[in-house]
Amino acid sequence: MTAVTTPVTSPDSFDHDRPYGGPVMKRDWELEAVCRTREPEIWFTRKGRAEARLLCGACPVRTDCLEAVLEHEAGLSAGYRAGIFAGLTGEERAEIAQQRSEAAESDPVSAGR
Ligand code: SF4
Repeated sequence: MTAVTTPVTSPDSFDHDRPYGGPVMKRDWELEAVCRTREPEIWFTRKGRAEARLLCGACPVRTDCLEAVLEHEAGLSAGYRAGIFAGLTGEERAEIAQQRSEAAESDPVSAGR
């Protein structure tokens, strides 16, 4: 009988900057996310909303989280922005995106255009 060996991928060899093997994304901050070790329902149900906001408020990577979610949700209306991220509802994130868009339109030089 021949033994079949399966390559083992250790957790230490996982490339967090390229989770899907695509372009490099700097996502090391996710390793420090408070939500990483909690039940996701907290962030995606009305019942969990208050707790999610509290946990996000104490999260050390909240700023990175906000920038990542705003980039991910670019172009989406408030109704399509689900869950609490960076302590904010979808409506609140849509408002920030709108404010940034308006600021970029009124000052294209500072916005890098
Ligand atoms: S701020 Fe972002 S990364 Fe931190 S707990 Fe909240 S949703 Fe998770």
